[in-house]
Amino acid sequence: MTDYAKATAQIIAAGRFLAAKGWAPATSGNYSMRLGDGRIAITVSGYEKGELTPEAIMLIDANGVPRDNRKPSAETLLHVGIYAVRKDCNAILHTHSHDATVLTKRHKDLKALVLADYELLKIYPGINTHETKVKLPIFNNTQDMKKLRAEVEPFLADGIPAYLIRGHGLYGLGRTMAEARGIVEATEFMLSCELELRS
Ligand SMILES: [Zn+2]
Repeated sequence: MTDYAKATAQIIAAGRFLAAKGWAPATSGNYSMRLGDGRIAITVSGYEKGELTPEAIMLIDANGVPRDNRKPSAETLLHVGIYAVRKDCNAILHTHSHDATVLTKRHKDLKALVLADYELLKIYPGINTHETKVKLPIFNNTQDMKKLRAEVEPFLADGIPAYLIRGHGLYGLGRTMAEARGIVEATEFMLSCELELRS
């Protein structure tokens, strides 16, 4: 069972890791964890992700309602939507990487990215061979989070480990924070391979 202090420490560490990779430019991205009591610890809007402190993390309830008067991430509804459908998911990391941005903008009509025959696919839960394919949906970007949440929802039930938003970034889902970090790192690696292979 993750408590608030433990979640805060894990989110801060994830922020340092992801920002060092260059996947959180200009305070972008957002991270969260589901606590044992069902509430969610999530990054407050507007903080540099490589320099997070406990003040940059806040509590919301399962519907996304803040437990204090600070402003949670602009994409809180997406996190809440994932936790509502995916009972297996307890950590979410959202990056704004160069490769995810270029790849999804270059292939404007692509509705999903198929990752096939990568050794790193084995990082995804339930996969133990490279001889497989994983389809990550790509959604068009919008500032309407309600709309985006509704579009993502049907795909979540299929057990996707991650999804992309065009010209925007990647969402990675994990049962634990360690798993979410592995999924984001492996996916970003495969995205950079795809970008090169498709150029
Ligand atoms: Zn974002």
